Amino acid sequence: MEQATTHRTHWINGKPWTGAAATRGDIYNPATGRVSGTVDYATAAEVDAAVAAAAAALPGWRETSLVRRAAVLFEFRELVRKHSGELAARITAEHGKVVSDAAGEVARGLEVVDFACGIPHLLKGGFSENVSTGIDAYSIRQPVGVVAGITPFNFPAMVPMWMFPIALACGNTFVLKPSEKDPSASLLLAELLAQAGLPDGAFNVVHGAKPAVDALLSHPDVRAVSFVGSTPIARYVAETATSHGKRVQALGGAKNHMVVLPDADLDLAADAAVNAGFGSAGERCMAISVLVAVDPIGDELVGKIADRIGKLTVGPGDAEGSEMGPLVTRDHRDKVASYLDSGVAEGATLAVDGRDHPVTGGAADGFWLGPTVLDHVTPQMRAYQDEIFGPVLSVVRAGSYARALEIVNANPYGNGTAIFTNDGGAARRFTHEVEVGMVGVNVPIPVPMAFYSFGGWKSSLFGDTHVHGTEGVHFYTRGKAVTSRWLDPSHGGVNLGFPVNQ
Ligand code: NAD
Repeated sequence: MEQATTHRTHWINGKPWTGAAATRGDIYNPATGRVSGTVDYATAAEVDAAVAAAAAALPGWRETSLVRRAAVLFEFRELVRKHSGELAARITAEHGKVVSDAAGEVARGLEVVDFACGIPHLLKGGFSENVSTGIDAYSIRQPVGVVAGITPFNFPAMVPMWMFPIALACGNTFVLKPSEKDPSASLLLAELLAQAGLPDGAFNVVHGAKPAVDALLSHPDVRAVSFVGSTPIARYVAETATSHGKRVQALGGAKNHMVVLPDADLDLAADAAVNAGFGSAGERCMAISVLVAVDPIGDELVGKIADRIGKLTVGPGDAEGSEMGPLVTRDHRDKVASYLDSGVAEGATLAVDGRDHPVTGGAADGFWLGPTVLDHVTPQMRAYQDEIFGPVLSVVRAGSYARALEIVNANPYGNGTAIFTNDGGAARRFTHEVEVGMVGVNVPIPVPMAFYSFGGWKSSLFGDTHVHGTEGVHFYTRGKAVTSRWLDPSHGGVNLGFPVNQ
């Protein structure tokens, strides 16, 4: 049930902020198109307060034993499991995705918590005894300090959970700036961290838009920034934070291609294209937005996809039976819908027009757009070049595998891709040749498990470290190498020479 009175504010030093905000934003329920609440926007002063809380908590938290830090995460894991229904409901109410999908995002976020629970093992360093006589060498990794996370609207629980469980496990303290469009899930996560025993100030949430982000990017006490969002903002965040001397990983937008070779199982490929193209209304950074059909299977494949789309139920995310919800905002829906006209104007064919798709049980003012297929798209078209980030699948026809690969590799984005084929040699060649960070073989959304790292290439990533997995641990720690000698009777006396191994 929609709560017209919901008001969200920052979470600083273990509790909700009690000040009076200079600005607030509206939160919408995308399924009704109505305002469901408001959220305070931070100025530099609130960001300062959050960073100060994180800085004050840092000495105590980084000295907390590894085993104790892991124990807090184990407790947090249980609490998130217990509250996963409530988290999913908050996500659906503000993002619009169907509840099962929201629950799926919580589950994928929890996998990173599972991974972070293994931090005592993950932070084991190397040790070499007797690198010179009586001298030992070892490596350790230490926390970087206060770190910031800036996250997008499309995964309001999972993307923050890509970051803070590992950052906290490594001994850092954290300031999260979630998307202002769906701020509520992050606040429940903050409450659960506090219940799990995380000390006050170790995890803070500030809401807002560019001023809040800019204050984090230039704050002298923020040592590292993790960002996930669109490419222009990722580039800006990377450049700005780097110019302020911070370590940055900034994951950007995507245009994920699914290549279907003529020998593929076309029913499997059609199911996969529909799942990956229209799940979460295409608002996933790993959504398939371009299908590259290698001749001669294009017409048959588009026909199978159209049949499946006809059976999809589009409706409110919290209604039983809904398979696809609305888009996140009215502006975004209108922008996505504009590509249907521009695509046709540039010569594409509207094989399935999502504007005609029935909406089951949805309010007239909801931000609806049904699944759409634009066929005969070419790389010159705007619908191909832009990241649409909605339920629009563009089909590009290619005469050969070589041409399909050329199309994928010429695209400026390099987040995810997939190949559908029964030919192991072709699949192996594609995984070897494609210039994309995450590759699926007969798997349309190859999101790596938490113990691998997630990240793209080219304009999909600024900075060189992917998130979670061992790269996540690396990002949130600094390496130190120690060379150590303890005096013993055979130390050999004074020697001013450069220490070399004889
Ligand atoms: P966005 O770039 O508009 O916003 C991301 C974050 O940046 C938000 O917290 C927002 O408040 C902030 N922001 C927005 N404009 C800003 C500005 N001018 N200056 C400073 N900060 C600003 O992205 P979005 O619309 O929330 O999310 C969708 C985008 O995120 C898509 O492009 C999608 O591909 C991308 N995404 C990428 C990944 C990935 O792993 N590569 C994952 C999820 C989403």
